[in-house]
Amino acid sequence: MEIPFFTFSHRNKDIKQDAIRVFEEFFDSEWYVLGKFTSEFEENYAKFNQTNHCVGVSSGLDALHLALVALGIGKGDEVIVPSHTYIATVLSITYTGATPIFVEPRKDTCNINPELIEAVITKKTKAIMPVHLYGQACEMDAIMSIANKHNLFVVEDNAQAHGAEYNGKLTGSFGHINATSFYPTKNIGAIGEAGAVTTDDEQFARQIRVLRSYGSQKTYYNEVIGYNDRIDEYEAAFLNASLLYFDKWTNERKNIDKMYREKLQGINEVQLLTIAEGATTVNHLFTIRTSKRDDLQKYLGENGVGTKIHYPVPPHLQKCYEDLGYQVGDFPIAEEIAKTILSLPNYIGLTEKEIDYIVHQIKSFFQSN
Ligand SMILES: *Cc1c(COP(=O)(O)O)cnc(C)c1O
Repeated sequence: MEIPFFTFSHRNKDIKQDAIRVFEEFFDSEWYVLGKFTSEFEENYAKFNQTNHCVGVSSGLDALHLALVALGIGKGDEVIVPSHTYIATVLSITYTGATPIFVEPRKDTCNINPELIEAVITKKTKAIMPVHLYGQACEMDAIMSIANKHNLFVVEDNAQAHGAEYNGKLTGSFGHINATSFYPTKNIGAIGEAGAVTTDDEQFARQIRVLRSYGSQKTYYNEVIGYNDRIDEYEAAFLNASLLYFDKWTNERKNIDKMYREKLQGINEVQLLTIAEGATTVNHLFTIRTSKRDDLQKYLGENGVGTKIHYPVPPHLQKCYEDLGYQVGDFPIAEEIAKTILSLPNYIGLTEKEIDYIVHQIKSFFQSN
């Protein structure tokens, strides 16, 4: 059997007719930037995420960056971020001139450990950026109460967790300004680059709208130094169509998570991610941890099973962050996760038969290793 790590083919089959229909509508509209599809998507996504406002932007990274700019974060400020995350979260801090301050994740959830946050708060700390990694909500009650106590902003990175909840409240609706990505492989994925900011605050929403469009609200009148970070009109049209399939696709992702968890139980060498009390996961990536990760990955590859590592190098050890002066050993939990984590095939259309085959291969590997 050949099982890719990821394929769009089933999702695309679901949505192809809608994609063609909205493309024709978009094309014939003769309005290609910030038109009716963008307004419609912003309204739909705000409703979906249960926030007062949504502003469509060009990518998840741009959404994170604009959120920090709108909050006035810059040189001399510190922003708390998990030591285990995708590099984009950290880059957005660096763009503003602020300094990323890393906090270790819990090993069993891989999400930021709220118990370690207060120890790194200083007079310079301005914000906390929780990342709902792999689709699982962070422990938002604890994070929000620390933020409130110390008067800090919260910017959620919700790129991987569309529809996840903590105590019944959706991720992307807790923070002051939140960012998400619609990169094609995300749970709600465009067919190119796209992202969004969500917020309950009308003033922040207005600021993001100005910042994404050259710093102007009225064309040719520029209030602030802005950017060209607008969402593509066609991506907005496609994303509107994608929202119609959200429940179907998310239920399927949750079901895949459930099947993997049941079938992988009892393999001592495989650690499944724990779901924190109160949190749900929308299974963006199905990851396991094992000390024999590299050999297992090789074995699965030889037996037709595609896998990936999210992520092999923690941000503090990336070459681009050499200047921060960190060394191996500074964030041992992030470093251990990077050495042991493995993402299994996970996509719309993955069948139980295929999951059985993958689990069978994992069991055979551990029988002889
Ligand atoms: C994908 C991703 C981003 C960046 O989104 P882009 O749209 O690719 O810029 C940021 N943070 C996390 C956790 C992501 O997974």
